[in-house]
Amino acid sequence: MNIEAVHTVGNIGAGTMGHATALQFALKGYKVHLLDMVQAGLDRGMSLIEHDLKTFADNGMLTEPVETVLGRISTYTDYEAALTGVDFVIELAAEDLKIKQLIWQQAEQFVGPEVVLATNTSGLSPTAIQEGLKHPERFVVAHFWNPAHLMPLVEVVPGKQTSEATVDFTVDLLNHIGKHAVPLKVEALGFVGNRIQLAVIRECMHIIGEGIASPEAVDDVVKYSLGRRWSLVGPVASADLGGLDIFEKLTTYLYQDLANGTGEDPLLKQKVDANELGLKTGRGFFDWEGDAGKQIVADRDKALLELLKKDQEQ
Ligand code: NAD
Repeated sequence: MNIEAVHTVGNIGAGTMGHATALQFALKGYKVHLLDMVQAGLDRGMSLIEHDLKTFADNGMLTEPVETVLGRISTYTDYEAALTGVDFVIELAAEDLKIKQLIWQQAEQFVGPEVVLATNTSGLSPTAIQEGLKHPERFVVAHFWNPAHLMPLVEVVPGKQTSEATVDFTVDLLNHIGKHAVPLKVEALGFVGNRIQLAVIRECMHIIGEGIASPEAVDDVVKYSLGRRWSLVGPVASADLGGLDIFEKLTTYLYQDLANGTGEDPLLKQKVDANELGLKTGRGFFDWEGDAGKQIVADRDKALLELLKKDQEQ
């Protein structure tokens, strides 16, 4: 398994995540066979790709014309036509175990036995997905973060039958296209990122629910302290820098006071029951009527783009 042998990538799914991965591979010079089960999905995906490419171009981040990058992507609704002869396959279709198992069993008919197959599942078990495969050792999770053309991280997660060579190859390939790939040793529910995110959310909900602080205050505390620090020095290295004896002391009295519920979150349930789902219904913990949400997302993406530019300059 050698990334130099990869020339053409099969990309299954052209939605929110799939259009962005297709774009990343095409930007790095790979031919991409973009496959979706419906033409409407491909049309939407190609217009999202054009939109993202224009944003990159407007920010001086393209070294070639938009049309050259677009010319590397061809679209398909037929598995055989899309996947015959490709050197790597990534799947970003529906989050459903049965559907993913079927997709991969179908895909396996058209690719060579050593072609690495990667799924962008948010949280399904790679061991469960790879069960029905003829060559399960070349199957792995490559978990991108949304927006996938702007967020560097990809968690690479082996199933029980995944070979070490498959993990190494996938990490190399993803790093080569400009992502920051992080391999896990074994699979765990939520991988690493979502485990940490949910542990933080559980405590945030507890703090708000107990009336310790408002949602605004919780967000400000994280944005102006932990968030800033952790984007530069991760929490584990930060503990080293602060002194492990200090953190050990904190655990002796604070662990017992932290949220440790294992069921459905009561505050989130209350919000969902009231149809206060956040941006999509106009209200969550904050009021999202009008253009406030759109503006926050636009500002966030602009800042992410600037960070990406800096990454590329290094
Ligand atoms: P999406 O609904 O935007 O896109 C999915 C696309 O896959 C659609 O265009 C659909 O037509 C196509 N599709 C569905 N079944 C197919 C099949 N059998 N063959 C070919 N194409 C098929 O979904 P998304 O948000 O891009 O999510 C894709 C995957 O990525 C899911 O597994 C999801 O859990 C995961 N993921 C999503 C996010 C996110 O924030 N959206 C983040 C990380 C991982």
